[in-house]
Amino acid sequence: EHARDAAEAPRDAVTRDGRRVEVGANVGSVADARAAAAAGADGVGLLRTEVLFLDRDRPPTAEEQEQEYRAVLDALAGRPVTIRTLDVGGDKPLRYWPQAAEANPFLGVRGVRLSLTRPDLLATQLAAVCRAARHGPVRLMFPMVTVVEEVLAVRRLLAEAAAPGPVPDGLRVGVMVEVPAVALNVEAFLPHVDFLSIGTNDLTQYTLAAERGHPALAALADPLDPAVLRLVAETASRAAGRASVSVCGEVAADPAALPVLVGLGVRELSVAPSAVAGVKAAVRRLDSGACAGLARRCLAAAGAAEVRALVRTASPDGP
Ligand code: PEP
Ligand code: MG
Repeated sequence: EHARDAAEAPRDAVTRDGRRVEVGANVGSVADARAAAAAGADGVGLLRTEVLFLDRDRPPTAEEQEQEYRAVLDALAGRPVTIRTLDVGGDKPLRYWPQAAEANPFLGVRGVRLSLTRPDLLATQLAAVCRAARHGPVRLMFPMVTVVEEVLAVRRLLAEAAAPGPVPDGLRVGVMVEVPAVALNVEAFLPHVDFLSIGTNDLTQYTLAAERGHPALAALADPLDPAVLRLVAETASRAAGRASVSVCGEVAADPAALPVLVGLGVRELSVAPSAVAGVKAAVRRLDSGACAGLARRCLAAAGAAEVRALVRTASPDGP
């Protein structure tokens, strides 16, 4: 079965009733990007640029960054690449960028909040993204966004970084939905973004107040908790027809989550390269109408355990 999934992977993943679901890959390097392309990914749904910035004495130059982004674009041979700006915080210290100690780093100055404290460093990254975007389809994405003002601020910096030219025509701009406030307030963001990407790893942590990776909270921090699903549903339904919505957290590769996400209207996923072929094969077994019915029942469930039970009884292979 795995051999057949792999052989079919490069084809579009379309449900039995004809809904296409794009399955991209989460990558952190050019090597990952090549693995993603070989696995049949429809693009890169998340390029974690952190890897370029960690473990060194000075930040990468615009040239170094442009080279890396172009190599990822080349690996994907014309398929879109979503470049996420630097997403670090107090828990991932950088030698050239000392950060104040924080009692709660996950609630502190991280992601776009940190980037906005050093507009010079962000501008360098944005300039590199603009240059790369002249060579292929790039989607620029900002992490840990909480309020609209942050989007306006990064858009101003983007326009400056593109100068003397305009922001490249094909460059799409979007934000991650990782903070519940963004999902709850999504209407306010829609005029300012081309796409939204739901990061369920952080969205789950912030919705359930359960630190990600905390060994004692693994069962509690279930992204299939109905509270998290409601935020996904709200985001997908309000954005429909106005901005594309993807899910790029680990849950996108969970076989139990796939029919629920599709049922909530999600048509783009991004998963580890090794999961691409299996997720595409699973999409081909789904019926989107049956998924929508299942998703409605899941939204009304009392908790994650009930959601998982609903998915199991829907059918062993999804609805
Ligand atoms: C997420 O938060 O779900 C996500 C995809 O980003 P990261 O795991 O890099 O925080
Ligand atoms: Mg995140």
